[in-house]
Amino acid sequence: MSETILPELPQELWRAGKLELAHGVQQFLQVMRVASAGLGQYLAEIESRGVKDLYGYGTTISWFADIAGLSMGEARPYVNRAIDLNPTRALDGTEIPPFAPATGAAAAEGAIGAERIKQILEILRQIPAEVSVEDREHAEAKLAGLARDAGPRQVSDLGEQVLGWLDPDGKEPKDPEPAQPRRELTLQRRKDGYWNLKGLLDDEAGARTAAALEAYAKPRPVDEFGQADLRTKAERQGDAWVDLVDLAIACPDQPGTNGYRTLVHVTIGLEELKTGLGTACLDFVGTMTAREARLAACDCLMLPVVLNAAGEPLDVGRLRRFVTPGQRRALNIRDRGCTFPGCHRRPKNCHAHHIHHWADGGPTDLRNLTLLCSFHHRLIHHGDWQVRMAADGLPEFIPPQYLDPLQRTRRNTLI
Ligand SMILES: [Zn+2]
Ligand SMILES: [Zn+2]
Repeated sequence: MSETILPELPQELWRAGKLELAHGVQQFLQVMRVASAGLGQYLAEIESRGVKDLYGYGTTISWFADIAGLSMGEARPYVNRAIDLNPTRALDGTEIPPFAPATGAAAAEGAIGAERIKQILEILRQIPAEVSVEDREHAEAKLAGLARDAGPRQVSDLGEQVLGWLDPDGKEPKDPEPAQPRRELTLQRRKDGYWNLKGLLDDEAGARTAAALEAYAKPRPVDEFGQADLRTKAERQGDAWVDLVDLAIACPDQPGTNGYRTLVHVTIGLEELKTGLGTACLDFVGTMTAREARLAACDCLMLPVVLNAAGEPLDVGRLRRFVTPGQRRALNIRDRGCTFPGCHRRPKNCHAHHIHHWADGGPTDLRNLTLLCSFHHRLIHHGDWQVRMAADGLPEFIPPQYLDPLQRTRRNTLI
């Protein structure tokens, strides 16, 4: 029998052209599949007749294992596959239809091999028992039809679709009470004006938080003065957290607020706001330094309620301290990010800094504004660096004397 179906090997395989080689592989593959399906038909017949009566073995698997020199574990898939793909008979002779007839037919033609058969059978076993025979057969025919000329990926995609149609509710969760997401966060203001942030996150929320922090907590590259980022990881993550909060409260559609929703009120006297000396009242939770309030008020990260000397609120709206969305867009285009020398931060992470503070009468127009990231915004407000508008209408920075005794102006050449 083997001579009739085995393809002929060329006399000298090494002379074969590439088409001939490919053809040979296809032919042998086909033969292996057909042979494996034929083997299955034999095994199904032996199972139907009863292996005990025929050969005295307890199971077809143990008999086949012996005859093929296989372990029981190795023999089992052959026999199970044979019974799944071929009709068998009960002891009284009634025919038992195969579990997967369309797959059996494709296998017998040599159109699909053991791997796809196994895949289809696994999908079929996930179909719930209450699905009708017609629906199940229809699904099987579709899978077997696709497997004839598609790969594992497509078969698995179709399998998922089919299971979705047949079992739209999905499997009952194994655990009757699935774990609830657990997220806790406490924020507490201490007497010294710092805040304690403490929390507990489930795995999914924790991973997202870690990814977001990581993206914003990268060390700043060495700047043009050779200065490396010396912040600890915890400090970088702290700064990243503030960037994320700024991003979250940014609302670019809100007119007249420079894209910052002013969620927090800070109440401060005009004198304190101008000098940066004294204290401000932070939304009834406590005090903050006037210096911090001045920084927060610069780009209206907080809405200042400015009081006159008599303690009455001034009509600060007229000070027009808000950067309009149009101005902000123009700033983004002009500055392209933080303008501090050596900084890489993009516009979305920047505040619009008033070079002359609006509280001191500085106008809110492009000639008085420049983008600064939160780190450099703080540095400009609290440190010894200064920024000014140069004759060409672009910002330039004056380094502190300890960095450059001649205090030559510098610009960000990186963006
Ligand atoms: Zn500022
Ligand atoms: Zn910067």
